[in-house]
This record gives sequence, C-alpha cells and structure tokens, in this order.
Amino acid sequence: MSKSERTSDEIEQTRRIVWARARGRCQICGSPLTWGEGEMAHMVANNRVNLVKASKAVCKYLAAKDHSYHWYGDSQNIRLARKVLNHPRNLRWTCPGKCNDSAMIGMKGEVADLHIAAIIEEMLGGQG
Ligand SMILES: [Zn+2]
Repeated sequence: MSKSERTSDEIEQTRRIVWARARGRCQICGSPLTWGEGEMAHMVANNRVNLVKASKAVCKYLAAKDHSYHWYGDSQNIRLARKVLNHPRNLRWTCPGKCNDSAMIGMKGEVADLHIAAIIEEMLGGQG
C-alpha cells in the first residue's frame, strides 16, 4: 500500500474531534474559525523522520510490556506510528499559515518525547 492508509472517513472523524475540542477557535491565536476555515496542524510533524522516531517509541513501549517482543522490521509499528502522528492529541485546530506553523513542537527534546509517549500510552495502554 503506497497510498495513505487512512480513509477519508478516518480523517473526517479526526477533524470532528479536533474541531469540537477547540470549540471553533484557533488554538494558537484564539480567533473564531468556521469548519471550512480551520486546519489540523500537527504538533509533531507528520514526516518520515518523525515516523521513524515514533515507530521506535512504539517498539520500545511494546518491548517493555513483552520482553520476547521482536521489533526490528515490523511494518505494523510503522502503521501504529502513523496513527500516533495523526492522533487527535497530536493535532491542533488552527488558522492556515502562521498559526498552523506555530502549532509545531518539533521532535527534539523531552517535550516531544513525552508527548509521543503519552499518545502511545493512550492508544495502547488498554492492551495486554
Ligand atoms: Zn490563529
């Protein structure tokens, strides 16, 4: 599957969650935004580098739970990592442009690591 594995239904559902949580306002500047005006801005950007980092964090999490877990080359982890980066908790409702750019916290340092870890815990915490 080379195309995005997310269906338009999933994206629509995520958009509704993020929009409702923001109560129709930009989460950076506070301006009111209609459904059509707002954008979902990634806090940790959805790019290849962060996908690999999130995938490693997923692996670490799963390996800590199950010590026999073999995590190298597991494509399921990339799928989970993609879900982490597109999780509503990694998204903010913003104006296009400057506010969208400001939503990013990057993937450096402890803040981003903790952010990713919290999303993984929420996604997978109930399992096993
Ligand atoms: Zn704004």
